[in-house]
Amino acid sequence: MKKLRLSGVTAALAAAALIGATASLPVAAQQKFVTIGTGGVTGVYYAAGGAICRLVNKDRSKHGIRCSVESTGGSVFNVNTIKAGELDFGFAQSDVQFNAIKGQGQYKDAGAYGDLRAVFSVHPEPFTVVARKEANVKQFADFKGKRFNVGNPGSGTRSSMEELLNAMGWKMSDFSLASELKADEHGPALCDGKIDGFFYAVGHPSANIQDPTTTCGAKLVSLTGPAVDKLVADRPYYAKATIPAGLYPNNPDPTQTYGVLATVVASAKTPNETVYQVVKAVFDNFDEFKKLHPALAHLKPEDMVKNGNSAPLHEGALKYYKEKGWVK
Ligand code: GLU
Repeated sequence: MKKLRLSGVTAALAAAALIGATASLPVAAQQKFVTIGTGGVTGVYYAAGGAICRLVNKDRSKHGIRCSVESTGGSVFNVNTIKAGELDFGFAQSDVQFNAIKGQGQYKDAGAYGDLRAVFSVHPEPFTVVARKEANVKQFADFKGKRFNVGNPGSGTRSSMEELLNAMGWKMSDFSLASELKADEHGPALCDGKIDGFFYAVGHPSANIQDPTTTCGAKLVSLTGPAVDKLVADRPYYAKATIPAGLYPNNPDPTQTYGVLATVVASAKTPNETVYQVVKAVFDNFDEFKKLHPALAHLKPEDMVKNGNSAPLHEGALKYYKEKGWVK
């Protein structure tokens, strides 16, 4: 990652030198490169990250920040990589943010990551279970003994899946195969008959769900029952959610489930001015931001600065929110 940014600087300098534009050298040298960790390229994080970068880059001549996105393994990878100082920003599910700042769940061994900072929350991510049309699955429990994709290690999807299986008293061995494919791979694997279903924590609509529902008539499966009720009652970051009827082809009924919020996080070490400029780019151009992906269409700034953020707000973000009067 660092390498990528460095080679970007080198390329910019080389290009400036090539065209003999010595006057542009100081500008290239001053440029700051910011990278946002996202998820698979067919998910919503990647598109939402692209939307943020597009707005940041629009005003590059004013603030000198060049923003780019990186496709990653997902939430847990992003938080760990920010912690390692190799990403400036990243998307993280609100449950992952909560556990990281408190040193709970998957962060129990690593301990609390005290420098984690919230920037804002984004779209809801209902846990989405999809079954192969021929798999004869009516409810999640029908996957017992079948081939199921539980998500790649490093994804928020995987950690949420594990929390659900624990709550249900299931083990990975309750599936005949618990595959660990990345989100970009689970749709094709489903339509090729290699797995019977998958679990994905994602915003809607998502190209990743659109593909298998269109290509092979895959079915969304509701995620309800006592284990889900208990999780939603016990955990502050979970809420019930409905995936609307007819959002995807071949799925005319609403799907009842539960889920989290997507959030954008950074490190306390990410410079205040950088975070301020990124936040300003999003909220100064908010109507445009909402139009860049349908999952962003219903966002409200007042909710984004408040909901789903269990880590303290980054100081650079706080400065902008105070100017707007969204935070006291
Ligand atoms: N919530 C997913 C994860 O952290 C990623 C979803 C997306 O890429 O849109 O694994």
